[in-house]
Amino acid sequence: MILSLSLTNSCNYRCDYCIAKSYANHAKQCSKSGYTEIRGCILDLDTILMYLDRFAPQGSTIVLTGGEPMTVPYFGTLIRMLVPHYEIVIETNGSQLFKLPKSIDYSNTRLLIAWHPKMITWEKFHNNIKQINFPWQCIRLMQIATYNNGERTIVNDYPQNIPFPVILNDGAMPDFGVPINEPLMFVRPNGKVMSCASSQAKCIGDIYEGTLDESNLNGCRNCTINGLVWCNSLKNVYLAFEGRL
Ligand code: SF4
Repeated sequence: MILSLSLTNSCNYRCDYCIAKSYANHAKQCSKSGYTEIRGCILDLDTILMYLDRFAPQGSTIVLTGGEPMTVPYFGTLIRMLVPHYEIVIETNGSQLFKLPKSIDYSNTRLLIAWHPKMITWEKFHNNIKQINFPWQCIRLMQIATYNNGERTIVNDYPQNIPFPVILNDGAMPDFGVPINEPLMFVRPNGKVMSCASSQAKCIGDIYEGTLDESNLNGCRNCTINGLVWCNSLKNVYLAFEGRL
């Protein structure tokens, strides 16, 4: 089981290409999770834990994403509760890595850190990620994109002061040719459970209602270009470079 939790549609950045924007209209339906503003929809911690207990067997991969997952007030508590029981992938902009609790065995945890060049300089970004006392082996995945008249171009030109091995990638979404063999589900910040990450996804449950249509969990199997394959097929730390230069 791979379960992606969009903990919130909020973020401390405002990237104009952010897909979490498309979750903003979910906020209107978020009264159960106590949202406070249009970009302030946050999944409820107790509800998450109950749902995982019921539907995600130990050893499942739990992806924590957003918005920026480290902005939710219970982030440290959630990490302490999940890390011993699950494989964890955290998708983050890397600006709040100090919120990762200390003294935890992160050997089953992976970070996917994205640099957004319009939001933060390389120097500041680099300083942020240097704060981690990495217990992980580090891999950088470089993916810098420019957009001209809607055309996306990958630029293989990146800061040179990189202390880790570099894997260059020249596609919009890397395809490692690894089909997913596990059921996938994507929980949006309003608690709706989706069958797939794409806009074609069907709603197959609701964590606030404790529902899941398990017969529709197989929609993404054999998809090899899904971002979760990317997270799931290479261990350790990834740095994805995204954004308009
Ligand atoms: S850092 Fe990520 S979540 Fe935050 S605004 Fe940018 S794309 Fe969206």
